[in-house]
Amino acid sequence: MTSDKSKKANKDKKTSHAPAPKTGKSKSKSEESKLKSVYAERFATLTEVGQNSLDLLLVIDKTGKVTYANPISLTTFGISLEEGIGTDAFTYLHPDDVERVFTRFIELLQTPNGSIRDTVRTIAANGEIRELELVSTNALDNEVVAGIIVNGRDITEQTRYVQQLQALEERFRLAFEDNMAPMIFTDLNDRVIAANDAFCTMIGFSREEVLGQNSTPFTYPEDIGITEDSHQRILRGEVGQSRYVKRYVRKDGRLIYVEVLRSPARDEDGNILYNVISERDITDERTLAAELSHQALHDTLTGLSNRALFNDRLDQAHAKVARDGGLFAVLLLDLDDFKGVNDSLGHLAGDELLKLVARRLEKVTRATDTLCRFGGDEFLYLAEGLRAPADAQLAATRLLGALVDPFFVAGTQVEQHASIGITVSDATTSERTDFIQNADVALYEAKGEGKGRFVLFTPSMHQQAVDRFELVRELRQALHSGDLKMHYQPIIDLATTEIVGFEALMRWHHPVRGWVPPNVFIPAAEQSDLILDLGYFALREAVAAASSWEKSDDEGKDLYVSVNLSARQFHDPALVSIIESVLAESQLTREQLIIEITESVTLLNVSETLNVMEHLSRLGIYFALDDFGTGFSSLSYLALLQPKIIKVDQSFVSPSFENPRNDALLEAIISLGHKLNMTMLAEGIETTEQLERLRSFGCELGQGFLWSPAVANDEIPTMLKRGWATIAER
Ligand code: C2E
Ligand code: MG
Ligand code: MG
Repeated sequence: MTSDKSKKANKDKKTSHAPAPKTGKSKSKSEESKLKSVYAERFATLTEVGQNSLDLLLVIDKTGKVTYANPISLTTFGISLEEGIGTDAFTYLHPDDVERVFTRFIELLQTPNGSIRDTVRTIAANGEIRELELVSTNALDNEVVAGIIVNGRDITEQTRYVQQLQALEERFRLAFEDNMAPMIFTDLNDRVIAANDAFCTMIGFSREEVLGQNSTPFTYPEDIGITEDSHQRILRGEVGQSRYVKRYVRKDGRLIYVEVLRSPARDEDGNILYNVISERDITDERTLAAELSHQALHDTLTGLSNRALFNDRLDQAHAKVARDGGLFAVLLLDLDDFKGVNDSLGHLAGDELLKLVARRLEKVTRATDTLCRFGGDEFLYLAEGLRAPADAQLAATRLLGALVDPFFVAGTQVEQHASIGITVSDATTSERTDFIQNADVALYEAKGEGKGRFVLFTPSMHQQAVDRFELVRELRQALHSGDLKMHYQPIIDLATTEIVGFEALMRWHHPVRGWVPPNVFIPAAEQSDLILDLGYFALREAVAAASSWEKSDDEGKDLYVSVNLSARQFHDPALVSIIESVLAESQLTREQLIIEITESVTLLNVSETLNVMEHLSRLGIYFALDDFGTGFSSLSYLALLQPKIIKVDQSFVSPSFENPRNDALLEAIISLGHKLNMTMLAEGIETTEQLERLRSFGCELGQGFLWSPAVANDEIPTMLKRGWATIAER
């Protein structure tokens, strides 16, 4: 259509000016100057306006031919004046715009003095597409002009710029607004000029609240300096960008940790325009990491340092002393009879008490020292920078002093004291583990000396500990080599002096030491699981021996055997089944076995102990409460444990010194047992006077050297055959 129209236009008007691009170059010099003068004459006014204008100015006649074009128009199309004048204006139009422009052109021709505004695309001589914003005015009636004045601007660059800007903005929106990472832009005063949604969500303030502020109002006070400093360093050019961690206080008051990357945006000359700050909330990571490292080094119950942390400090203290000299001490603190609290008030109360103890100890812990929960009811204290060993004792006094006042746990007032073992560093202890081990040895002494005190480790204690260890090792051997034996002491019916049974007592004949008394080796065995093996050995031996004993009288009453059980055996889950199977393998009836327990079983978990006892009672096994009166168990325990027999301790029967009140006490104990329906047995009867007294108090049973010490099993048949008579009666 364009080409048709332009051909038509060229055909119609046969001017001397041929269409510019094709024919312009063939014009003669004279034609050219003639054209110029006509042109100048005709468009004098327009020339005046258009010559120096930055806008395009053209005149088109009603056929679409260019009759005037100002210099900038010619430049825009890339043609000369000669090429331009007389040419069909539509030939320069972008094919897509021709139809529209043509239609509007026709309309304009029919509207005298009318004008239209349009944006059209043109194709310059070099093929470049340019966008023009044009206003076309119908000036056909104007004598001089006699055409359409087209006035306008080349907006190609502007449009391109706007498009670029739009694309940039879109990219920016994606990169900033929709970015998952919290981002802000700040000006040179570090005031926020833009903030994305992620940032606002992170700190809980709205965009309005954030814009125009520097980050001070949102920053945790201590961290304001960090922000300011990094901003200034970038401004001063000391760093290209900076990365740091700071804390914000959210609008809801919550503290958050963020990792910040701050980089400046610069112009072409390198001047900073604004700061681009992108941030990352690392609160969760931080808390998790902090929790993990805290958990790794602290005790969960009390929050005190744990062994790992303590060992680390100990290593450091050790290295420091080796380098610089000086002293440090390790104090091992163990709560006295803590089990009692756990048992009587429950484990929760026990935990509560441990926490309270930890707080008290913490209060008297020096800043340079380390307090740690070693496990269970044990605490370790590392005292550093000591001048003399006596300083360690001061620390121990301080720790024990902190526990003097009673505690309140589960609504009850509780007394909780402790014992402490102390080691002071010296040049000879090279191994780190020695310190805690030696403190443990000293602690053992402190407990042995009656608790509630501290003991300083000495090398001789170490020897004793080694001896104890050695003793246990040998005892274990004795159990297998047969050096351990059971002996039996007769139990006498005080009214008839007949033997009613025997107590099984353990004897150890050591190849070098000779007879080692059970008071020495039993407590040593109780420090380890060896006591379980000893206990079951005693039980098996005793039951086997008792099976061989002949009936003692015509009435068919069987002799019984009384076996001592260590408190620790009550903790052994296998206890009941072992007793059952030992009995099942023997000819003994259940009533023929009596289990002796001391009050110390009540120091263990009471409900656990009662469970075991109930189980055994249901099997028909009776209990005897040994060494009654020496412990501190209350009468309520007596009612709870319900032993069949109470064995009154020999300290009541044959007191080491005469005291008129002894008799009264003995009588009272016996009558108390009777009131509770228990059989009373007196231990350690050595004289007939004691026997007579006990008889008069109504005590039923007794044992003692008056009749016989414990003897080997092979002596029992003769003893039984002889019947019994007191030494006095013999
Ligand atoms: P226990 O159960 O109270 O045993 C009574 C202790 O008093 C025995 O000491 C016995 O020899 C001693 N004895 C008996 N009559 C007299 C007397 O008239 N005068 C004096 N001074 N002492 C008398 P032994 O055999 O030295 O045993 C000491 C403790 O060792 C026992 O006290 C018991 O607690 C423990 N024991 C002994 N054998 C075993 C055992 O097989 N298992 C456990 N767990 N402990 C045992
Ligand atoms: Mg006993
Ligand atoms: Mg006893």
